[in-house]
Amino acid sequence: MRTLALAAGIACLVGGGIGPAGAQSAGEDSVAGAIGRAAAQTAGTPKRPVEKRARAAAAATPGSSTSASAATKTRPTAKSTAAATSVVASGPAPDAGEAKADVPAKALFGSAASPAPLAARAIGFYSRGCLAGAVEIPIDGSSWQVMRLSRNRNWGHPNLIRVVERLAKDGAEKDGWRGLLVGDISQPRGGPMLTGHNSHQIGLDADVWLTPMPDRRLSKAERENLSATSMLGPDKVHADPAVFTKAHAAIIRRAASYPQVERVLVHPGIKKAMCAEAGVDKRDFHKIRPFWGHHYHMHIRINCPKDSAGCKPQPPTPDNDGCGKEIDDWITLLQRPPKPVDKAAKPTPPPKPVTLADLPPECRTVIAVGSDDGKKAKTMDKTSTAGQR
Ligand SMILES: [Zn+2]
Repeated sequence: MRTLALAAGIACLVGGGIGPAGAQSAGEDSVAGAIGRAAAQTAGTPKRPVEKRARAAAAATPGSSTSASAATKTRPTAKSTAAATSVVASGPAPDAGEAKADVPAKALFGSAASPAPLAARAIGFYSRGCLAGAVEIPIDGSSWQVMRLSRNRNWGHPNLIRVVERLAKDGAEKDGWRGLLVGDISQPRGGPMLTGHNSHQIGLDADVWLTPMPDRRLSKAERENLSATSMLGPDKVHADPAVFTKAHAAIIRRAASYPQVERVLVHPGIKKAMCAEAGVDKRDFHKIRPFWGHHYHMHIRINCPKDSAGCKPQPPTPDNDGCGKEIDDWITLLQRPPKPVDKAAKPTPPPKPVTLADLPPECRTVIAVGSDDGKKAKTMDKTSTAGQR
């Protein structure tokens, strides 16, 4: 168990210990599993997730991105992806599987620089799967900017990209939110990542900073280095009313209002503040889910798209607004002093890395189809140039 401060700081890195469809996934899950668990526990006492990667979190600000070459990338067309549909339908590519079956999947998916030229499809579960036919959100829009470009994680299922773009527009027009700073979405072919998140694997999760976009274009360096703002006050439990404003609450509610959005994860202190402010109108509050971390950003999760056979849905969210016992239990838990470290306890061995064999079989095709070596070389070249500036 870690300290609360750390727990609060790790955002989407949290390891919840529950994987796809509720199965244990060797501490590799996270948001995904824990959300499922939280959803299943409509009123139960939330449990501390098993968090082993606190250190990694120190560097973690919500972010995302695409490489410096992103501006020149083009989205796959509907035509090109539709033509390839049958590839996925026909099963794993013959040479894709066996040789790579034992390689950690994060190494394979973490080095894929371009999307799989297939029809768009989210395959598997949020924390155990991959993504075909991803599209990228452009790094600049009229009311958004993508952060952490070097990560190349601004790819998603087209439904999700549409939701993020709509939120950016609606937020600017209706909620007094100048624009979105877009954090991590997914890798070009989804899948596990070399760093961070356990979910975000099938292109249906997007992190959006709770820092509004500034009134100018950020430089590449700023997008790498700028820190997001925590919404919490000095107790690290409650939202700071001087920081967490009505506009913050409005953009979170806006995200939750879209029918495709199934969950918006925020820190329990944020949900508590929103419950207190909302009065009688708590529409969509059942979708605003309290969870560890998420005081620098919100995590938007959409439902399984209709085109995605093999996308595993999560259990539904509770049918109540969660502003009663559930949120109070979270706050109580956050205020509890951390358990003392048992120095005599044997360290838990690190979980076995997830391999291609652990992912849905179609992911073998997703990682194998279409070579992106050339694009990768370009990407790395541009990224390293950008880094030198
Ligand atoms: Zn996230």
